[in-house]
Amino acid sequence: MYVDLLERQRLFFHQGKTRDIFFRKEQLEVLKRSIKTREHDLMNALKVDLNKSTEEAFLTEIAPLYQEISHTIKHLTKWSKPQKVKAPISHFGSRGVVYSEPHGLTLIIAPWNYPVQLAFAPLIGAIAGGNCAVIKPSELTPNTSKIIKELLNESYSKDYICVVEGAVETSQRLLEQPFDYIFFTGSVAVGKVVMEAAAKQLIPVTLELGGKSPAVVDKSAKLDLAAKRIAWGKFINAGQTCVAPDYVLVHEEVKDSFLNHLKKQMDELFSQKIKSGSYPRIVSERHFERLLSFLNEGEVIKGGDFNRENLVISPTLLEEVDWNETMMKEEIFGPLLPIFSYREAEEAISIIRDRPCPLAFYIFAENEEMQKRFIHELPFGGGCINDTVMHLATPYLPFGGKGESGIGAYHGYNSFLAFTHRKSILKQTTRFDLPIRYRQDEKAMSLLRKIFR
Ligand code: NAD
Repeated sequence: MYVDLLERQRLFFHQGKTRDIFFRKEQLEVLKRSIKTREHDLMNALKVDLNKSTEEAFLTEIAPLYQEISHTIKHLTKWSKPQKVKAPISHFGSRGVVYSEPHGLTLIIAPWNYPVQLAFAPLIGAIAGGNCAVIKPSELTPNTSKIIKELLNESYSKDYICVVEGAVETSQRLLEQPFDYIFFTGSVAVGKVVMEAAAKQLIPVTLELGGKSPAVVDKSAKLDLAAKRIAWGKFINAGQTCVAPDYVLVHEEVKDSFLNHLKKQMDELFSQKIKSGSYPRIVSERHFERLLSFLNEGEVIKGGDFNRENLVISPTLLEEVDWNETMMKEEIFGPLLPIFSYREAEEAISIIRDRPCPLAFYIFAENEEMQKRFIHELPFGGGCINDTVMHLATPYLPFGGKGESGIGAYHGYNSFLAFTHRKSILKQTTRFDLPIRYRQDEKAMSLLRKIFR
């Protein structure tokens, strides 16, 4: 079944239509129009699957797509131009050109936490790069997956862009197919499975994974603002955000004051949503039970309420969590935020360094030396100074992990780069043929030594 699909896509790809930049731009326009037309349905589906409010769904799922599509359409002609490069003296007479070529058939595997954004954002890159695409949305958000499928079926021929729905088995069967490139967003564990499957056919991959992303609050930070931005970044989508702060390290001198601000901000931003039943729910019973078990791994100092029927857990702060608890070994991925204090910057740095490389890192400080120190001494995918999450939502910054948190990056120009191959061509002159490379005598050798000093 997938063999047929890939053959049809291969045939379509070889017709060469997708190489035309106008075609690509047109298809991006189609995507934007289709999302606009089905915006209401997408939001309804997100409400059913995750209890996302219309406002949150628009801000975090839909709006970034409109921005990304407009940005891509605006810059695509420039990005896709062949780049002329210089030739060194050893290549006298020749010219170099770098073409950005589509990979061909691409596979996009998406997760459930931002099921609309994380299916369509890579697709923008796939279209911009001139590829065909197969999209496998998450089975855990079936209503959203259904609308994504309908929307793309209404907009494109399946020989160009096709949605395949299904769970692990479907994903595994797709991974056996001879795609030319795989873009995966999901957990570290499944990322390893994807990379292993891709390695069997030497298929290049981009892996957008997760991990434990720390937020550090220095004593020079504006505590009220730090608290507000950490509360927002952590508790939107019930903490089910790949770049949500996973835990906070706060300087012990400002800890009490920071916690007071944080509790206040949590109330201001989320208590109304909890009361009105519009706070997002945990995606499944399994994920819900896993998070509930974490509540026993520390002292709950705020929140800790839950509703089994609706799968809702209120924004929660914990203290006294041991670093050996499961909660501190796995990505939390829910509305629980453990708080730790530190005395010296070295201490905070070594705590973070001793753990797998985070996808995101956040430093809150007015002291610029402190900002630089944390940013440069720690490895991580990307992050913010004095904010959380927002680095993900700009097409001007490459977004991706490092080490355990992922391989490669995308958004804006970087999506175009991810979904294309750089084909280097040396165009040699035929007006003359320098004899030096053919000669093996001493004179030639001494000339070569002069050139390659
Ligand atoms: P997941 O890894 O369980 O699933 C992701 C996708 O892989 C789904 O489509 C699923 O059907 C498929 N899949 C699951 N098991 C598979 C297997 N054994 N073989 C092949 N395919 C398989 O991830 P999730 O639970 O959907 O999403 C949450 C995770 O994703 C978190 O770790 C989060 O940090 C990460 N994430 C990362 C980003 C990012 O941009 N870096 C964004 C969102 C989520």
